[in-house]
Amino acid sequence: MTADVASRIQRVQASMVAESVDALLVTPSADLRYLTGYDAMPLERLTALVVPATSEPVLLVPTLELAEAERSAAALAGMQVLVHSETENSIAMALDVVPDAAVVAVDDHMWAARVLAIQASRPKVGVRAAGRLLADLRMRKGPDEVASLRQAGAAIDRVHARMGEFVHVGRSEREAAALIADAILAEGHTSVDFVIVGSGPNSASPHASVSDRVIERSDVVVVDIGGSTSDGYCSDSTRTYVVGTEPDPSFEQCYDVLLQAQRTQCDFARAGVSAESVDRVGRRVIEEAGYGDLFVHRTGHGIGLETHEEPYIVEGNQLMVEAGMCFSIEPGIYLPGKHGARIEDIVVVQDEGVERLNTTTRDLVVLEG
Ligand code: ZN
Ligand code: ZN
Ligand code: ZN
Repeated sequence: MTADVASRIQRVQASMVAESVDALLVTPSADLRYLTGYDAMPLERLTALVVPATSEPVLLVPTLELAEAERSAAALAGMQVLVHSETENSIAMALDVVPDAAVVAVDDHMWAARVLAIQASRPKVGVRAAGRLLADLRMRKGPDEVASLRQAGAAIDRVHARMGEFVHVGRSEREAAALIADAILAEGHTSVDFVIVGSGPNSASPHASVSDRVIERSDVVVVDIGGSTSDGYCSDSTRTYVVGTEPDPSFEQCYDVLLQAQRTQCDFARAGVSAESVDRVGRRVIEEAGYGDLFVHRTGHGIGLETHEEPYIVEGNQLMVEAGMCFSIEPGIYLPGKHGARIEDIVVVQDEGVERLNTTTRDLVVLEG
């Protein structure tokens, strides 16, 4: 990826100054990757980006990770890389980069043990979570990030397009999921993040994952899948299928409502509308059809270097969406014990509307069985 490390560091430093944060410490996480391009493993040995509010950042790594760190976009762009040996106090070394800091922000995924070690080593320093500060940057995607998400979307679409190969009568959800996982890799991802195959009554559980249930003729099957590409950006798309025969009319009716809700949301979303209003316009369609109680989750989540990140498309989130924000629109209707359905596309907000990054048909697909 062509992460413009210098400009990201500059933007985070501007936010730190505005928020009166003197130093930022970021351990291996999507935040670290975002700021440095370094996809570091979370290990017991400390790897940390230390960003002072007004001077040059330093990447502190264990000696044995130096070669990897030096290949990161940040190091290639000239960021200083410091090493600590097996016997040095790495937390003290990190804090020595910012000797006068009174307020230190740490990434939301930092291990509790590390946060406690920072507090023990500098009892007078105020430690706070950096999540808000970093989310404000990360949810506003640059063109290179949108391009990466577009590529990830196309890759997961190719897997959905092949669903007839994987979901069959007589095959268990687990067996289908294993084939889908292989296809996620074969179609252009470097890792499989999740595979949900909910068949029959299991389709009514939004995060069903997989079971040993054997797929039967006329089952509804919800398939929600995602992976990450080599530059770290994630895909996430759900389609609902019927196996082997036309669906029963009551399900079809329910699916039509869902389809209309999802389309209404995608047509409505654009720069300048609130996140919660995108949720509302779809929820209203589902409520008016009498299924309101069965749409049991928010409409969507932001996506980028993590599958779930800000902005969340949920009642109560008054954030105005902006061009360049990327999130899922994934309403669902779940009838416990019977069947469920969900339709999920990732969209990129534009001034006049959204671009959907998932383009496989949203019409109910009947797989051969
Ligand atoms: Zn989810
Ligand atoms: Zn999903
Ligand atoms: Zn999702």
